[in-house]
Amino acid sequence: MSFEGLIKGLHHVTATVNDAQEDVDIYTKLLGQRLVKETVNFDNEKVYHFYYGNEIGSPSTIFTTFPYKDQGVRQGAIGTGQVYETVFSAPENSMEFWKMRLHDHGLKTTTENRFGKEFLLFEDPSGLKLSIVEDNSDDRKPVWATEEISKEQAIKGIHSVVLAVANADETIHFLNNFGYAVTAKNAPYTLLESQEKGAGNSLIVLEGQGLQEGINGLGTVHHVAHRVDSIEDSIKIKEELESNYGIQVTEVKDRKYFKSIYFRIPGNVLFEVATSGPGFLVDETNEELGTSLKLPDWQEVRRVEIEKNLIPYNR
Ligand code: ZN
Repeated sequence: MSFEGLIKGLHHVTATVNDAQEDVDIYTKLLGQRLVKETVNFDNEKVYHFYYGNEIGSPSTIFTTFPYKDQGVRQGAIGTGQVYETVFSAPENSMEFWKMRLHDHGLKTTTENRFGKEFLLFEDPSGLKLSIVEDNSDDRKPVWATEEISKEQAIKGIHSVVLAVANADETIHFLNNFGYAVTAKNAPYTLLESQEKGAGNSLIVLEGQGLQEGINGLGTVHHVAHRVDSIEDSIKIKEELESNYGIQVTEVKDRKYFKSIYFRIPGNVLFEVATSGPGFLVDETNEELGTSLKLPDWQEVRRVEIEKNLIPYNR
């Protein structure tokens, strides 16, 4: 077998960040994403796990963070073997709005032309590299609008991620087999898209000659997840990776809102394959999404203790 047709596109991006309050402020208030789930890192319950996304946190719109401030985690360094930048998708004719908005909030921005499009580059408070690009073919719904950001301007989700690697050819060769085909080149960038194409289904490989090797830590992306329809598809992918690529894959992990496997691709970037379902409405109604700390059953029994260790923040 091969991976043919199994990978549908992106699912989410997960980053290690610094301060919880700064994080909520930039992703919800400034960038207008909805906090669709507040939970804890299932592997370290002293740390929040925030999920931001569109109204319901549809797969491919989800950006998630672990605010690790004061937990003894070093400052990371962005470089090869990592997601170098996360690109968000905004509607046509919204770029001037975003430039002004980021500027008015004291963020430094630059622009770069890639594949004939203008990317607005900036950093979040922990140092993560982010960008916004207009994409008029992005029809993902339901769009989350706020008092300050209308539906005509609102970010629709993750557009693509930039993967920095030392040897682009080897990574691109793997990604071709994995389910992403090259659709454009603009050195040092190569654009790849899954069969579903476009925003939420795209990767940009950056050949990182001159870039240092990335160091995991605060201000770096931990992994990028790709979506599949079912856990059976994840298991097929695990078997294929292990038997034909010699890539070690974790056991299936229950993330409550999806089920996941993890592995490193050629080029060393940490990938996750996550099921599209069951999604964030499994333990909250649409109205309630992100309004209180949700814990899986195995942690619910220690809720009082867990809550005591979390630093409060304002929504
Ligand atoms: Zn993940």
